[in-house]
Amino acid sequence: MQSRAQVVIIGCGVVGASTAYHLTELGCADLLVVDQGPLFTTGGSSSHAPGLVFQTNPSRTMTQLARHTVELYQGMDLDGQACYHPVGGIEVAATPERWHDLKRKYGLATSWGLEAELISPAEVVERISLVDSQRIRGGLLVPSDGIAKSVRAVEAMGRAAQSRGARFEGETQVTGFDIADGRVRGVRTTRGNVEAETVLICAGIWGPKVGRLAGIAIPVQPLGHQYARTTPVGALAGATQEVTHPILRHQDSSMYFRQVFDGYGVGSYQHRSLPVSAEDIPSSRRDAPGSRGDWQQMPSVMAFTADDFKQPWQDACELLPALRSTQLADAMNGLFLFTSDGMPVLGESRDVRGLWVAEAVWVTHSGGIGRAMAEWIVEGKPGVDLREGDLHRFEAFAHSPAYVRARGSQNFQEVYDIIHPLQPMEEPRPLRTSPFYPRQQELGAYFLEASGWERPHWFESNIGLLERRALDGQVADEREPWAARYWSPIVGAEARATRAAAALYDMTPLKRVEVSGLGALTFLQRLTTGEMNKAVGAVTYTLLLDERGGIRSDITVARLGDQRFQVGCNGPLDVDWLEHHRPADGSVHLTDLTSATCCLGLWGPKAREVLGRITGDDVSNDGLRFFRAKRIDVAEVPVTALRLSYVGELGWELYAPTEYGLRLWDLLWAAGQPSGLVAGGRGAFNALRVEKGYRSWGTDMWAEHNPYEAGLGFAVRMDSGDFVGREALLRAGTQPTRRLTCLVLDDPSKLVLGKEPVLAGGRVVGFVTSATQGYSVGQSIAYAWLPTSETDGGAMLEIEYFGQRYPARVAADPLFDPQMQRMRA
Ligand SMILES: Cc1cc2nc3c(=O)[nH]c(=O)nc-3n(C[C@H](O)[C@H](O)[C@H](O)COP(=O)(O)OP(=O)(O)OC[C@H]3O[C@@H](n4cnc5c(N)ncnc54)[C@H](O)[C@@H]3O)c2cc1C
Repeated sequence: MQSRAQVVIIGCGVVGASTAYHLTELGCADLLVVDQGPLFTTGGSSSHAPGLVFQTNPSRTMTQLARHTVELYQGMDLDGQACYHPVGGIEVAATPERWHDLKRKYGLATSWGLEAELISPAEVVERISLVDSQRIRGGLLVPSDGIAKSVRAVEAMGRAAQSRGARFEGETQVTGFDIADGRVRGVRTTRGNVEAETVLICAGIWGPKVGRLAGIAIPVQPLGHQYARTTPVGALAGATQEVTHPILRHQDSSMYFRQVFDGYGVGSYQHRSLPVSAEDIPSSRRDAPGSRGDWQQMPSVMAFTADDFKQPWQDACELLPALRSTQLADAMNGLFLFTSDGMPVLGESRDVRGLWVAEAVWVTHSGGIGRAMAEWIVEGKPGVDLREGDLHRFEAFAHSPAYVRARGSQNFQEVYDIIHPLQPMEEPRPLRTSPFYPRQQELGAYFLEASGWERPHWFESNIGLLERRALDGQVADEREPWAARYWSPIVGAEARATRAAAALYDMTPLKRVEVSGLGALTFLQRLTTGEMNKAVGAVTYTLLLDERGGIRSDITVARLGDQRFQVGCNGPLDVDWLEHHRPADGSVHLTDLTSATCCLGLWGPKAREVLGRITGDDVSNDGLRFFRAKRIDVAEVPVTALRLSYVGELGWELYAPTEYGLRLWDLLWAAGQPSGLVAGGRGAFNALRVEKGYRSWGTDMWAEHNPYEAGLGFAVRMDSGDFVGREALLRAGTQPTRRLTCLVLDDPSKLVLGKEPVLAGGRVVGFVTSATQGYSVGQSIAYAWLPTSETDGGAMLEIEYFGQRYPARVAADPLFDPQMQRMRA
């Protein structure tokens, strides 16, 4: 076997093969793909996957990746045999809740550019004659969904890569890595060592084991999943084509179906979760535990547990009565990967440079992810925004085997559930709590979870604010049941109380790092779009861009010393970005301050009156100006006060060492009572920031968008010297063709929640990002990505929400206090 290659890919499943295909397409031909199994049916998950491709996903990125898979495999064949059967996909609803939810899913599909249709039970039966129409209320049809022939696609892509110079070696197991000076130098295999500059782990369910060989943790969990094939179905007798029926999902029973010639394939997620340790999965057919049928002895297949299939089989026969006269011809517990958030794990290791990972990828997304990985490796950036799948999105706890196992198992259970966008994880909770937690509990906080933190969304103790409104003759807010989940009218009351008096917001979960060292200023100047060389005490809202001018993050930088900056980030990805660009000469230090400090936002017109009661420091407008930072004492608590606000009010972010947290809360609370201070939750916070027009990175904009498109041109100082992304911005110009646009619904009593399609003249032209009731402006607000051609001249637009169309129009941005009078007061 060759002893050197520029790139080595470990694993020739559908992910490894797709990445090899795309890498060679980009001109990277010095490439070696090794697999412990025989080529091209290696015995991994791709070797037995039934290959259903349902493209619609709540994630726009995942839908884009699936669309590329379809395009790629549809144009591919192996010796004249198709790699994709575009038979269409139908998700049926057996319950009113599911039927209602399919309308939301229809909206998602169209938001992301998929052709889709809601169809009646009779129309489902027209397409899949085996379905009992009495059992269903209708279905969602996506005509371009279908079956990917994964083994065929692996071989077709492998051959194409070989024809461009890549080498493939089967029955070659990677047993170790050569790593020096934090870089991968090569791999050790059962057939000799191979030097390499870049190594990509596409080892599927063996990924954690392979990662450990290199000393890196890959947070994925292998789980068993049941799939069976029936004996011939009478109604399909004589079928000559493998599949003509659309693929079928029956999510109310956590099941899916596909035709296989004259039989049917039946998959179930209904059973208990069956986690397996990667270390316990055999690597070859010889030592595999065995199953039934032609999957026997594939190492990724565990013995079929028939008891787990009893109820699913009954459910299958109810939906498809023709199956009653069949039996299971073969059946398995096949293994594949789940993650703590349902997304794949992609990217380059921070600890071992040159070592990349592409794990927990379904066949559905394999074409798109192979392309994105190849672009990322060769060009430094994937063509699609992969923030949701980035290896570095996880907090430290999310790498622990206990967490990955618990969350992976829950995700398995919920894979077909109707999941509300705000639905929190159930276990493990509480995981991370701020020092204010006991007081929040006393105030009846309704907690949701994010990044492991318990975050109050509203406080039951504020219910009295509603009664006061009722006495004033105003009615309480109401919402339809879906939008009312994880919400209370108290949210609106807290928002109004913030605008009327003052509120305390727990901002502790906001990630913050200290950037210090002799090179700190130069480093930040180079990475951000703003001017960092300001007087000590200056605070700057600025952007991190990538080389293409895409927004990697929006951050707040407070200059606390000559070469000491506190950076308010959006999450671990920002820390990774900073780490990635940190100079190697040791002149810049990064220290994560998140756990060491806590933060309270004190905001509202009476915030100064409250703070003034308990500090001797000058917090007047002149004493601590807008967008300035100052070290103050709040009674005996040492506090760094940043005069800014994400809710658009006068006030400060007050940072203190964690151990002072409770004291700080108690001091502010007591001082605030005469002024009507309340505790505010995330619900109010979000509503206030949206009506103030403040963007939320990851929801409103991401690396796909440049600052001018996102309405953040004000944060770009072209005269602040060279910075990452500057050249690209110059090329792009300041007049975009699409824009994050503020819309208001004509009927303020209606509400959308985000990701809904926006239509102009009945045609989908964009999608919603953040949406909320604007409690102060009395309007229902939705930000949306729209082509500028659709937003000029007061065009009439509509937003589709669960099948209903709400008229909307473009509005001034921001709706609340555009003159910034309240914050500057
Ligand atoms: C029953 C079942 C049904 C499924 N149905 C669908 C479906 O309908 N649609 C869908 O989209 N997805 C489906 N999936 C999921 C899908 O099969 C997997 O997510 C996908 O195949 C994973 O591809 P992969 O390339 O990452 O892994 P694999 O195909 O497992 O490839 C990994 C490869 O790495 C090799 N390898 C591992 N360790 C080493 C080593 N040390 N040295 C050398 N080589 C090594 C293995 O031999 C293997 O070939 C299903 C999964 C199961 C189990």
